[in-house]
Amino acid sequence: MMQQMGSGVEPMRVNRPHVRALGRRIELISMDPHFHDITIGLYETSAPDGAISYLLHSYSGRSGVDQRLRSLAASMATIGGLVIEPGEGARLRFRCGKGHRLACRRLFVEAGKVKPGVEAQVRPLQIADRTTGRTITIVHDDANTYRVTADGLDDGRAQRIGAIGRGLARLAELELIGEDATRVRTTCGHAHDELVGLLLMRALNLRAAMREQEEAMSRGMLVAPSAQKS
Ligand SMILES: [Zn+2]
Repeated sequence: MMQQMGSGVEPMRVNRPHVRALGRRIELISMDPHFHDITIGLYETSAPDGAISYLLHSYSGRSGVDQRLRSLAASMATIGGLVIEPGEGARLRFRCGKGHRLACRRLFVEAGKVKPGVEAQVRPLQIADRTTGRTITIVHDDANTYRVTADGLDDGRAQRIGAIGRGLARLAELELIGEDATRVRTTCGHAHDELVGLLLMRALNLRAAMREQEEAMSRGMLVAPSAQKS
């Protein structure tokens, strides 16, 4: 049965059926600062019909863990525009039913920073860019296409806008449209305003975001993207 585990320790229980049902772990909060430093994993499962869902799980036996996981799931749902699946456990999915694994991992980590009792906020499609001193606005053009714009246009700005477009494409697994990289679209065909808003902040400093990702991979939490099937 479940035992209370020390923080940061996740036992190997691969032979247990209930563990297999968790799915594949794709991200980890090793010490939750808002709940006794417990370890929380984000697991990905795909249903027979191909729909992807994400489960939050902790091996901690502390009382109140379920409530903490549900609260974290609620924050993820708000920040990332996901829906919580009914039933036991803290399980979510995107409205489109697709995976968006990379974006979901970032979302999980961001949601983990939300203090208990504080309502999670959706990030707007607008941000101040310190590099240019301009406001960057993402315009939602149609169903799944987004355009990066800045107030005031000149030649130097176009390059910066393209860099932000490329950053968004990389971080949110979006497709770039055109040579100038000012437009991106989701691969699932659906709108994901919340995710685009969340990752816009990171896209302004792509180098730092990529460094964080490499550090996470070197901690052994992840399989390298080149080895992933989707
Ligand atoms: Zn989608």
